[in-house]
Amino acid sequence: MLTNIVTTIDSYGVTDPQRIAYRDETSQFTYGQLKKYSDQVATFLTSKIKAAGPIVVYGELEFEMLAAFLGISKTGRAYIPIESNTPQERVELILQVAKPAAILAVADWAGPAINEIPIISPLELQAIFENEAEVKDFSIVKPDDTYYIIFTSGTTGVPKGVQISHKNLLSFVNWELTDFDLPEGASFLSQAPYSFDLSVMGIYPALTSGGSLVPMKKETINDFRSLFSTLPKLDINVWISTPSFMKICLMEPTFDGQHVPSLQTFLFCGEELPKSTALELLIRFPQAKIFNTYGPTEATVAVSGVEITSELLEKYERVPIGYVKEDTQILFMEEGRVLENGAVGEIVIVGPSVSKGYLNNPEKTAAAFFEYGGVPAYHTGDSGSMTKEGLLLYEGRIDFQVKFHGYRIELEDIDHHLDDVSLVKQATVVPKYVENKVEQLIAYVVPEANDFEKEFKLTKAIKEELAGLVMDYMVPQKFIYVEELPLTANGKVDRKGLIAEANR
Ligand code: AMP
Repeated sequence: MLTNIVTTIDSYGVTDPQRIAYRDETSQFTYGQLKKYSDQVATFLTSKIKAAGPIVVYGELEFEMLAAFLGISKTGRAYIPIESNTPQERVELILQVAKPAAILAVADWAGPAINEIPIISPLELQAIFENEAEVKDFSIVKPDDTYYIIFTSGTTGVPKGVQISHKNLLSFVNWELTDFDLPEGASFLSQAPYSFDLSVMGIYPALTSGGSLVPMKKETINDFRSLFSTLPKLDINVWISTPSFMKICLMEPTFDGQHVPSLQTFLFCGEELPKSTALELLIRFPQAKIFNTYGPTEATVAVSGVEITSELLEKYERVPIGYVKEDTQILFMEEGRVLENGAVGEIVIVGPSVSKGYLNNPEKTAAAFFEYGGVPAYHTGDSGSMTKEGLLLYEGRIDFQVKFHGYRIELEDIDHHLDDVSLVKQATVVPKYVENKVEQLIAYVVPEANDFEKEFKLTKAIKEELAGLVMDYMVPQKFIYVEELPLTANGKVDRKGLIAEANR
């Protein structure tokens, strides 16, 4: 049982410094380098950054990101990963909420111009890593200190920063390392951006068990030809992704157990695992173990998991989301009442991996978090039930949060930013579903008066302006122009009615 993430990772740097911690097509980095780089980041931060507050780390899936995270953890501060392709507007909102003490830019800073927060450039950071400054004792993040903050979509258009403590993270990592039969020293696919908590499913279980991370970068993922030629040559043991990404990968017919025999474990999380994807995987990788796991960022990546077998798929209409980890309890609630086991209600997670709340956002924290019998609890907004055997079943959402290509989006978040687009008077976004999965986002828009002769030109202009405000996956694919939006009896936009219309 691990009791400290930082010292466990460091111990490999001391006892086995040549062990590989990270490798991509062109380079590899060892645990010795991870220790050296992170020691120097910690030394730099301790001596040069006096202001209190978390530290932003800006980049993609580079090794330097991991070294920066670890260095920050050695100073008792929290880190905030921000992906470098995040639009300026969103970065600005995150900085306003987080008030970071500094920004470590692994990639060139393309965020807003700021004077009040020191930005350490990639070149300066490289020099810090290479420094030989004397390393003093560190003040590593304590159990209740925040280890990282991950920002996720917020209904008001302002991202919410989920604070995960060292204790939260330990509860998750100890579970993943014991319940999924992961071999020691395994190599893990690292595909999810570090600003998405699915990445944590790889980073810490890998680095605390002497394993390695193998990144698959955006250029490969976004170019099917390059992705499909990479897949049959993968040399990894543990696959971690959303089901959506796997669905794309399965388009490559040679991606199977014969071509990739090293691949022994698949872990899915973040959205519903379609039965068709699960079945196809059982056929393609008969030797491997495939797990569906479930959980929100607010309860540290995942709290339940189940191995997929053909019997399981035959027995249930939708793929079950798993047995709850030992240290955690699930309640089903409705209107403040706890329901009997077996009844369908809102899934509430009670346990040591539940976050202390959203950074600098007491209102949203109070709405979603509470204590149950003295233990932290979180309202997931998911609807579900539990079988007599303790298997958790997922029934969908009770609000307007959706998963699109695995990304978490509050539909109201897109509405807010669409309303800020100059050509838009009012807008509401709805999902179009195919087999319980969002296939498309549709925006119903009341446009401002404009001179566009053709609707598609108006759409192009709106999309362009919106792309500067939200993540690319939040830009709707289809725009329907209306004179007014339908209202409910109490005068709110009738989103449910529009959802029904879009899915007729
Ligand atoms: P995130 O915080 O991005 O991980 O999103 C959490 C939400 O994703 C959950 O509240 C669920 O709505 C959804 N989710 C995560 N895992 C699963 C799963 N295995 N099956 C169905 N939905 C899931």
